[in-house]
Amino acid sequence: MNIPTKDFKVKVGGFNVPVMYRDDDEYTRYARDGNPDGMFVTVDELRGPRIFLHASLLKQPNHRDYVFFHELMHCACYACGLKSAPKLNEEYIVHSLANTLLQVIKDNPKIFSS
Ligand SMILES: [Zn+2]
Repeated sequence: MNIPTKDFKVKVGGFNVPVMYRDDDEYTRYARDGNPDGMFVTVDELRGPRIFLHASLLKQPNHRDYVFFHELMHCACYACGLKSAPKLNEEYIVHSLANTLLQVIKDNPKIFSS
């Protein structure tokens, strides 16, 4: 994976989603459960969905791939409307899909590189 090391945007469905490296007050405000490595945030309707990656991931490229992909899966659930499905264990689905799809991409670089 070639994830930019500065803030960038990723297109997911109809959304152009900012991906931001943070470890400041804005990050901790959204981090309800301790200090997670990443977050997909939709609570701010005016600014739309966003992905936060903890700035410490800049020094952990392999873990950054996983965290980015994990949050991207949450974003995909949001973009395709899965978040409103009844009795959905989104965290389980996202964790499983992120691990599997990330490995598929890494194992098939000819297919997924531009
Ligand atoms: Zn998650």
